[in-house]
Amino acid sequence: MSKGIYIHIPFCVRKCLYCDFCSTADTVLRDEYVDVLLNDIKACKGTVANTVFIGGGTPTVLGDKLIDIINAVKENFCLEEGYEFTVEANPGTVDAELLTKMKEAGVNRLSLGVQSFNDKELKALGRIHTAKEAAHAFRMARKAGFDNINIDIMLSTPLQTMDSVKHTFDMLKELNPEHVSAYSLIIEEGTPFYDMELDLPDEDTEREIYHYAVDFLKDIGFERYEVSNFAKKGFCCRHNIKYWVCDEYIGFGAAAASYVNNCRYTNTNDIASYICGVRAAEKEFIDEDEQLKEKFLLGLRMSKGVKYNGEFEEKIEKLIAEGLLCKLNDTVRLTEKGFDLGNLVFMEFV
Ligand code: SF4
Repeated sequence: MSKGIYIHIPFCVRKCLYCDFCSTADTVLRDEYVDVLLNDIKACKGTVANTVFIGGGTPTVLGDKLIDIINAVKENFCLEEGYEFTVEANPGTVDAELLTKMKEAGVNRLSLGVQSFNDKELKALGRIHTAKEAAHAFRMARKAGFDNINIDIMLSTPLQTMDSVKHTFDMLKELNPEHVSAYSLIIEEGTPFYDMELDLPDEDTEREIYHYAVDFLKDIGFERYEVSNFAKKGFCCRHNIKYWVCDEYIGFGAAAASYVNNCRYTNTNDIASYICGVRAAEKEFIDEDEQLKEKFLLGLRMSKGVKYNGEFEEKIEKLIAEGLLCKLNDTVRLTEKGFDLGNLVFMEFV
C-alpha cells in the first residue's frame, strides 16, 4: 500500500519562545545530519508513497541541502502519480531562488509558518519574521508557481486582541491561500513561555477569537475538515489525513514517527545520537483494541466523522445527549458544540 513519508529537519534560525518541537538553533551538526538522512532515504529505495511532508524545525534553513533531500526522495522512492509533496517554510528563511528550486525539484505544496500578521505578536512569540516578510514570502511562492499553499495561524497568543486577530484574517483573505491551519497556543513545560508572565487573552476573548476565526474562514470559502484545519475545495492536506485515518507512514530523521504493520516507532529526539546511528527510541505494538480506539479518536477529529461498530456505545450516547456528538447510520461526528469543546469529548475516551 502507498505510504506517507515524513522527513524531520530539526534546525531553526532561532528557537521560538513557545516551541517544544525537536529543533535547535545550533548549526554544528547540520551537514552531518543531512548526510545521515540521505543515507537513510537511500536505504529505503523503492518505497511506494503518495504523500511526502518535509517538516521541522525549519527545512528551508538548509538552502541547497534541502534541494538535495528533495532530489533524493524523488530518486529513491516510487512516488505515485498525483503525489502530494509538502515542505514547511519559515517566511524569514526563503527567497525567490530557493522557492523556484523547490518547485522545480517537485515540491507542489508549501506550508508557511506565518502565525500572525501583527509584528508585536510575532515578536512576543520569538518569531524571526515580520508581517511584511510573511506576506512577501507568500507572494514569492505564488510567483515561483506554488498553487497549493497553507498558512499556519496561531490563536490566543500573547498580546493578541480581537482587533489584531481581525487584521490577521483580513490579510489572510487578501493573500488567498488554499489551506489554513489555525491552532491555539499551548504553553508547554520546558519552554521559555512556561516560566514567563504572559499577557494572554482571557477565556472569553479566547472563545471569541476562536469563533471569529472559524466563522471568518467559512465565510471566505474554507471548509473545516479537521478540528484545526481548513481548506478550499480539493485542497485538504492528504498527508496529514493519513495520521487521522491511521494509514501507514514512514518517518525519517530525529523524533520522526513511523506507523507500519500495526507498530508505531519513534526515532530518538537526540540529534547527535541520530547521527551516530540510533533510530527507534520507542516501539509500540498497537493491538486490535488499541487500533479500534485510535481509529475512532483520531477519526473523530475530522468533520466527516468516523465509522464505528458499536464500540464506546455508552460514552457516545452520553455525548450525543449532551449535544457534543451526532450520529447518522454508522458514522459519529462532532457537532458545532463538540468542535468547540473538543477536549471534553476526547477526554471522555482516554
Ligand atoms: S520555527 Fe517552528 S520549529 Fe523552529 S523554533 Fe519556531 S516553532 Fe519551533
